Amino acid sequence: MTHILSNPDTFVDDALEGFARTHADVVRRVAGGVVRAEALPAGYCAVVVGGGSGHYPAFAGVVGEGFAAGAVCGEVFTSPSAGAAERVARAAHAGGGVLFSYGNYAGDVIHFGAAERRLREDGIDCRTVVVTDDVASAPATRRAERRGIAGDFVVFKVAGALAARGASLDEVERVARWANERTVTMGVAFGGCSLPGADAPLFTVPTGTMSMGLGIHGEPGVRDEEVPPVDALARGLLEPLLAEKPADCDGRVGLIVNGLGAVKYEELFVLLRHVWDQLEDAGCQVTISECGELVTSLDMAGASVTLTWLDDELEDLWRAPAATPAYRRGDVASPARARREITGDAGAARLDQHVPQPVPERLPELTKRQTTTSAAILALLKRSLTTIEGERERLGALDAVAGDGDHGTGMARGLGAAVSFAHAHAESLPPRELLAGAAQAWSETAGGTSGALWGVALTAVAEHLADWDGSTAMCALAAQSALDAVRSTGGATVGDKTMVDAMAPFARVLAQSQRPLADALAEAAAQAERAAVATAQLEPKRGRARPLAARSVGHADPGATSFALIVSALAERAEATS
Ligand code: ADP
Ligand code: MG
Repeated sequence: MTHILSNPDTFVDDALEGFARTHADVVRRVAGGVVRAEALPAGYCAVVVGGGSGHYPAFAGVVGEGFAAGAVCGEVFTSPSAGAAERVARAAHAGGGVLFSYGNYAGDVIHFGAAERRLREDGIDCRTVVVTDDVASAPATRRAERRGIAGDFVVFKVAGALAARGASLDEVERVARWANERTVTMGVAFGGCSLPGADAPLFTVPTGTMSMGLGIHGEPGVRDEEVPPVDALARGLLEPLLAEKPADCDGRVGLIVNGLGAVKYEELFVLLRHVWDQLEDAGCQVTISECGELVTSLDMAGASVTLTWLDDELEDLWRAPAATPAYRRGDVASPARARREITGDAGAARLDQHVPQPVPERLPELTKRQTTTSAAILALLKRSLTTIEGERERLGALDAVAGDGDHGTGMARGLGAAVSFAHAHAESLPPRELLAGAAQAWSETAGGTSGALWGVALTAVAEHLADWDGSTAMCALAAQSALDAVRSTGGATVGDKTMVDAMAPFARVLAQSQRPLADALAEAAAQAERAAVATAQLEPKRGRARPLAARSVGHADPGATSFALIVSALAERAEATS
């Protein structure tokens, strides 16, 4: 629960500004995050980390000497946009390439992935190491599917330390990958967390019980049980980690006992002592450890234990000096490099100053048909926004069952940005440019998985608007393109319990319909709605909800539900205007 009552919509901006003012000697704010106040030495590799906000000190708190060069900061529990990642990376880049590193979440993978492609196209060498340390989120045989939680700290620290020695991007990437491979985490929650301004937590844990295998986005754990005495708790957390001890490890471990936000440091030290003793009993030697809040989940009462199977290189890099707002180790030789001003595209600090304005300098006069279609796009977006606003809480609640509860807010934020863009340009931009700009505004402003996917979906639809004839056949082609774009970006197929489950039948019914557009849309939207309801029976195979698959059964997929709502609004308008 937030005690400082501010505007939830400006929470991240306010917090980041306060942080940057406090640590002005170490960091500078840029649009979408922070970078070091002093530029890296020329030719050095920039380690850029990031993700949603709500995890302080991850991610802005570890920007500094010997650690990250920049952090991309999204809305609370929402991946930052591709534009934000690109801007922070450009501001951090010093000629030696960029290593992106972040926890494994669909939205982050899509947005950071797009930024990586754009940077490469522009001649900046960029690589990515995704952190996958959470053993509760997938079995060891499917390691690549695991979420990234407190293990972020180890991967970022080790990569940042090597980069600080002037190592090449190849080397920094290699060591980050190695650190990730050797790092495992298991967490437990004793109480839920609340989004800023919310009056109820995203999930609750009954008093006296705990939820093993928590996520860091308010996703509840995978299994609830009674809170045991500390010895048994330590054993329960260590067991799945020790089960994955690699055969080639010499027994040295780096240990982290991480607080999730509302467990006192003394309590964490108590847990650390017991975990340490048990590690020794199991034949391991703890040669380095951290205890405190490193990757949090707002005000969640919880803790996690991370083990890194060390070798000389990992241990040496973990021990290397670092000086960041939230983490210090050893003595960092204070470099006398010049402070810098951030100028250009990254200079404007607030994210919302970056909603795209792809307006050609001299606009051709719109034809009558173009004027009508552009006006219809604006009206449709507005109607969709009203619909989503009305269902915001229900969508959030559906997402909180097994995800992070932000779907309603994220959709409303993205659609709001799309409406603002369309409102400003409906009279001057032809339909294709209007919808493409609105799509980009949506993706940039909303971030998150659904922001990225609606961005690519509407961009694909926009391509059909250049010679839009209002026919059912053309609408079917546009729906198919949107579906293809979402499938290829997110990798989901029908049955994975995502928005694809509602999009596919919608596109199919349109393609098969011989009826006029309004009737065809009504039929297709009804089918999308039935399909969205039917997702309740499925287990999620993608996105944040996947690790909690069983909990999700009985509840419809939020993304499929919002898709059905939007196409129903589309059908109603088509009906009203036909
Ligand atoms: P986030 O998961 O980043 O918090 P949202 O909560 O806004 O994003 O959106 C969640 C929805 O996104 C899910 O309900 C699902 O419909 C959709 N989704 C998640 N991953 C994928 C994917 N890989 N492909 C298609 N849709 C996805
Ligand atoms: Mg979500």
